Amino acid sequence: MRLKIQKEDLRAIDEHSLKCFPVECCGLLVGERANADLNVEDVISAENIEESATIFEIDAEFVYNAIVEAESRGLALIGIYHSHPNASAHVSGRDAEFLALWPDVAWLIVGATKEKNQRKKGLHLQGW
Ligand SMILES: [Zn+2]
Repeated sequence: MRLKIQKEDLRAIDEHSLKCFPVECCGLLVGERANADLNVEDVISAENIEESATIFEIDAEFVYNAIVEAESRGLALIGIYHSHPNASAHVSGRDAEFLALWPDVAWLIVGATKEKNQRKKGLHLQGW
């Protein structure tokens, strides 16, 4: 399984993580499934309604509307991204709980620090 994402989309996620710092940023990845690949078409930044440095939550209606809009274009919700301010891109205990609830989407986690040269990206793909 592979997640295919444009460099400019990764850059947008990186910039989102810095804009929200030290709050966790979050958003949705919309695209299509093609055999074993997830092809990202759009990155949709969302508001972290928890406004927290350690957890994130996206408004349910926002997610629903994004799914409806994606499906109207023949696409699907294929991923969820969020940042870990001042932490590595590991799967936290809470992440693991929510990964289990969304078994068919990829989770992209970005380790966000203000120090550009220390920034680390991580990717976790749940089996689907
Ligand atoms: Zn996390």
